[in-house]
Amino acid sequence: MSLTPLIFPELIQALLDNIEAHAEEVTELDQAIGDGDHVFNLQRGLQALREHAGEIAQLDWVAAWQKIGMTVMAAVGGASGSLYATLFIALAKNGKDRVVDLAGFADVFLLAVEAVKQRGKADVGEKTMLDVLVPVGLALRDEAAADKPLAEVLDRLCAVAADGVEATREMLATKGRASFLGERSKGHIDAGAKTAQLMIAAIAGVLKKSGN
Ligand code: ADP
Ligand code: MG
Repeated sequence: MSLTPLIFPELIQALLDNIEAHAEEVTELDQAIGDGDHVFNLQRGLQALREHAGEIAQLDWVAAWQKIGMTVMAAVGGASGSLYATLFIALAKNGKDRVVDLAGFADVFLLAVEAVKQRGKADVGEKTMLDVLVPVGLALRDEAAADKPLAEVLDRLCAVAADGVEATREMLATKGRASFLGERSKGHIDAGAKTAQLMIAAIAGVLKKSGN
């Protein structure tokens, strides 16, 4: 993959735009079973990243992921802030001295998702962002091994992410604030799963446009 962090400013802007476009919808989801601050938390992190985007664009991926993780950690409160910070710091740790082609990235991404699981003591099926991140990571590994064109891989990842979001609707929340509601958490999509999907869709859009 010829992709370098030079694309980072464009990616961040696309993430901000897609979260903004769905802000009301996500806030309603988070108000139903959380405390309603999830969009604010994400926007704060993304805005901090936009401030550093020029600098991050000049780094290699490993240094960029480390800087992204540290920036998110410092800027964002809330569960999602520390979990996304963990994801990126783990990408940096596991990506060191590895070839980050698509298959390599898939391996590193899955290891980073494992770190998120450990950090939040959670797994798939608990109505969180992991219900998107885990299936997307697994699909990425399968698609990369099948050596398909990137546009096809991206379409598949977007479809898997959308299914992951929908799957959270009938799940019982057992982690995070939504778990305080017990059975009443059922019937609502998880806000963090939804924003993970929105961010994956935004990244896919930029990568497709750039022809990478
Ligand atoms: P907070 O819950 O602290 O207010 P946010 O509102 O920013 O933080 O993020 C909430 C989202 O974080 C949830 O919708 C869920 O997807 C995710 N989340 C919460 N706890 C966990 C956990 N232990 N593991 C994975 N994801 C989690
Ligand atoms: Mg919240």
